[in-house]
Amino acid sequence: MANTNPLETAPKEGRQVQPGYKILVAEDEESNFRYVEKLLKKAGFDLLRANNGLEAVEYVEFDSNINLILMDIKMPVMNGVEATREIKKMKPEIPIIATTAFAIPGDREVFLNAGCDDYIPKPIRAGELIDMILNHIA
Ligand SMILES: [Mg+2]
Repeated sequence: MANTNPLETAPKEGRQVQPGYKILVAEDEESNFRYVEKLLKKAGFDLLRANNGLEAVEYVEFDSNINLILMDIKMPVMNGVEATREIKKMKPEIPIIATTAFAIPGDREVFLNAGCDDYIPKPIRAGELIDMILNHIA
């Protein structure tokens, strides 16, 4: 059945978020970050925030405990596509989920070609995001 409440974070039946999963959220816009922070924390994930792509690359370089990255594409300093390429050179095993508003046809292919493992358009629906995350880390 479709999940109609965007803040409902319960994963599909039988799927559990294990404690200690750390997600790096690369997001330049405060309100977008607050929204994602709320739903990921509610689902039981630990969080780190990068304000742009370069910060995301630096976090990955120095923190060996990042399980997954949620990567906004449109960011200052270094965008999400460039940051994904850099991160995948260093640590290809970390799953990266790209996200963007105002997606245009073909975006998904661009992001996947850059090395992203998945793509979720904004506005992000909580249930969909949690299930997508679990698909990559479970
Ligand atoms: Mg942005």
